[in-house]
Amino acid sequence: MPDCKIYFESILFFMSRPKSRDDRASRLIDLIDRLGRLVRSQIHESGMVPAQWDALRYLARCNRFSNTPGALAKFLHATKGTVSQTLNALERKGLVTRQPDPVSGRVVRLALSAKGRALASRDPVPELSQHAETVLARDADTTERVLSGMLAEMQRAHGFKPFAVCHTCRHFQPDAKHGAPHWCGLLHEKLSESDSGALCAEHEAA
Ligand code: SF4
Repeated sequence: MPDCKIYFESILFFMSRPKSRDDRASRLIDLIDRLGRLVRSQIHESGMVPAQWDALRYLARCNRFSNTPGALAKFLHATKGTVSQTLNALERKGLVTRQPDPVSGRVVRLALSAKGRALASRDPVPELSQHAETVLARDADTTERVLSGMLAEMQRAHGFKPFAVCHTCRHFQPDAKHGAPHWCGLLHEKLSESDSGALCAEHEAA
């Protein structure tokens, strides 16, 4: 629960009116930052640090081609050393396992343990999704266009990979005739329905 000071600050914050395009842009960034801080405060209450939750959330959502420490580091825009420390902490908590890939032994595959999956299902971010649904119901086009446009611009400006969900990739072939619901034209692998909604390190925008 926010204390009185935060509540009072929020009222003052929301009462201030944007005066120009620049004001509107900086106010939008402030709002996003405040939302992030609210989520982070809930994360701290769960006894985890944000980086650990980010890793847990990624592993709950990524596909089987993207469950490596390297892909996680790219997704988080973090160094391999930082990600390794995060994974060590998650392993000590019994939330994540590391196994050598059965085909290429040099590749390490990450997976959530049963305890990790249970914790990931209590992710505080979905509450934000519920609120987003309410806002999107009022003005879906503008809200989604502004936020996804900002994300794409930032990724382009800094040369980051997009890591979007599989079914929006240009290599995704729906209803392919390979005995599976879908097909990956890049990796030449069958894709299930759940694969089609997973994050992929190899994603390329359509
Ligand atoms: S279709 Fe694209 S996003 Fe999906 S698995 Fe293949 S490369 Fe990854």
